[in-house]
Amino acid sequence: MSSEGKFKPKMLGIICNWCCYGGADLCGVSRFQYPTYIRLIRVMCSGRVDMKHILLAFSNGVDGMFVGGCHINDCHYNPEGNYDALSMVNLCKRLLEHIGINPKRLRLEWVSAGEGIRFANIMNEFSKEIEELGPLGKSEGIDEKELKSRLERIARLIPYIKLAKMKKLALHDINLANEEGYANLYTGEEINSLIHEAPSYYIDPGKCQACMTCARRCPVEAIISAKNQVHVVDQDKCIRCGTCFEVCPPKFRAVTKIVGEPVPPPLPEDQRTVARKSKEKEVA
Ligand code: SF4
Ligand code: SF4
Repeated sequence: MSSEGKFKPKMLGIICNWCCYGGADLCGVSRFQYPTYIRLIRVMCSGRVDMKHILLAFSNGVDGMFVGGCHINDCHYNPEGNYDALSMVNLCKRLLEHIGINPKRLRLEWVSAGEGIRFANIMNEFSKEIEELGPLGKSEGIDEKELKSRLERIARLIPYIKLAKMKKLALHDINLANEEGYANLYTGEEINSLIHEAPSYYIDPGKCQACMTCARRCPVEAIISAKNQVHVVDQDKCIRCGTCFEVCPPKFRAVTKIVGEPVPPPLPEDQRTVARKSKEKEVA
């Protein structure tokens, strides 16, 4: 709150070097005014902005988040990064909605280096909108702890959501020159079911033979692996790519895909020595 008791939000903008930052710069040298509580970060392309950056900013108490890039078809890179920013922001808005956060807190705009006045107008309009919405969480009726936990839960699903998005883009062959195609990539219902159906992977300790194939192939080192020890998926690190499920040899089939149910707790470390099937037979 400001000294007059008026809500003064925390706002962050991540803007591209070539266009929007030029617009912000022109806005400054032209002495167009906008609230000083909006902080800007320059990146080379709006396509560099990741869902994780946005969720992290909200998790750290930002009330409004702005992403600015070059106008469509003016991106300085090939393939065009601003289409990535467009699909990412639209997807992120749906995710925010899913966890009860007003999606208006996230805004994407295209601003050219010659649009200083437009940049100021957008900043003034957006800051007014955020001031009216009020503090993040409080306005949505979510307490701080719950808000953080919801944002963290969604952030953990980002790699899985990105994979689903890539598959969807490939399947639907969205026209790269069609802004609307990207904007409507996901409906709210699709996001709900995507999150509801997010799988977890679990290694059955009774079946794992510690061949280590899954640990070698896991792209994020999410499998706790040691010689002759039952392997364990670290659920906090797992990005749900399903590779371990696919590569575990058919003779073991130790990896299970779990949807909509809790994952069993991992075996205590002192009980992970593998019971070799051949040895068990010999003893019998
Ligand atoms: S699902 Fe993917 S990320 Fe998760 S443990 Fe298996 S291989 Fe690793
Ligand atoms: S690939 Fe299967 S059997 Fe081999 S270590 Fe992983 S879970 Fe165990």
